[in-house]
Amino acid sequence: MHILVVEDEVRLARHISRALTTAGHDAIVVHEGEVGLREAQRTDFDLIILDIMLPGIDGFEVLKQLRKSRVDSRVLILTARGELTDRVSGLGLGADDYLAKPFAMQELVARVGALGRRYAEKPAVKLQVADLTLDLTENQLHRGERGIELSARELTLLRVLMREPGRIFSRTELCERVWEREHEYDMKLVEVFISRLRKKIGDPPLIQTVRHLGYCIREAT
Ligand code: CA
Repeated sequence: MHILVVEDEVRLARHISRALTTAGHDAIVVHEGEVGLREAQRTDFDLIILDIMLPGIDGFEVLKQLRKSRVDSRVLILTARGELTDRVSGLGLGADDYLAKPFAMQELVARVGALGRRYAEKPAVKLQVADLTLDLTENQLHRGERGIELSARELTLLRVLMREPGRIFSRTELCERVWEREHEYDMKLVEVFISRLRKKIGDPPLIQTVRHLGYCIREAT
């Protein structure tokens, strides 16, 4: 799933993001309510993990605004135990589930998985572009019959590209989606990883450079 994490505790947010990535999801992390709201309105996320106590506008307000602007992504609310009021547990604002802090990461991943299953019409188990197949359950990549070994980061990068074949991703967007947002990231890193992926995937090339815009994956025409 493509997941937005809105959590102002940077360390916790990073842990969550890691756990989700390991479980095969794509996670984007933001630390402020306003930013979360903007991201959620701009991109169609499968799930938003939303902390209640946020600087600026809080999670309740974010959720209210989202539903008002007809964003129907599922929402999992995070809340400190003390804040667990009827307002939260009643899910009256249109959240799909909630989890009280502190929680075990496995619990969060399990809840996320359950939300995914509850709503999934047909889960995308395999992504395919031409003869390149990425099995999301096993995290295995094949070009035709040939198996290809990938590092975790390469896998995440390829997954982002393959989920939307033909869509052009800027270096900035890839950086944000594959590496952690709070890092001072290096755009060169994207180039390095793209070039590694290209080598591993082999010919004919599938990852295309679109001049001045970025990269996309598709069969060359
Ligand atoms: Ca908080």
